[in-house]
Amino acid sequence: MVKRMPKKLKRRYHEQGGRCWYCGLPTWSRRNETRLQARDRLGIVAGTPDASKALRKRLATCEHLHRVVDGGGNGLRNIVMACAGCNVGRGDRDPMTWLAEVQAALAAGTHWWQAYAAAARAHLEGVVAGTVKGQVSAAQAAAALATGLLDPPPRFAAPCPPGEAGKDGEHGSEAGEQTQGGAAQARPAPSAAAPRAP
Ligand SMILES: [Zn+2]
Repeated sequence: MVKRMPKKLKRRYHEQGGRCWYCGLPTWSRRNETRLQARDRLGIVAGTPDASKALRKRLATCEHLHRVVDGGGNGLRNIVMACAGCNVGRGDRDPMTWLAEVQAALAAGTHWWQAYAAAARAHLEGVVAGTVKGQVSAAQAAAALATGLLDPPPRFAAPCPPGEAGKDGEHGSEAGEQTQGGAAQARPAPSAAAPRAP
């Protein structure tokens, strides 16, 4: 089922190239695709451990940098797109602190997606070898492994900037593709602290 995405979320989704503001992982939305399509695109295979959970965590959500419970507004300047996993996982942390934590986990290989991917890979390799009975056939498992979506080391350290998080009413995603390999400092600070482009 394909649903509509809220306007602000849609805008951030496109500005960020569909990638989470914290972890940089591609996300998905029911507006753009079905669960099945999203699973295939993201490398989440039916029957792998925690596949449904992984898919839920990769869902695109509206993230209020200044939390609503702390008085944060609903304006675009306060909103970025984050995956559900990062959104929920943040808790009451400051966004830049959480960003640093997520990036550190990815660099250390301890991020939840890396754990999922490793377990999924092992499961699929077992299906291919015939030692594990999976929901998919050996051929399908081999094909899923061949996509490389579950391979380490993933190139995650390139989250797109929030676009123009501090500027309402302007376009400006030209920086979106320029942060390959960049770390947190490549990302404009959230909210009004973002410098204004000429
Ligand atoms: Zn994320």
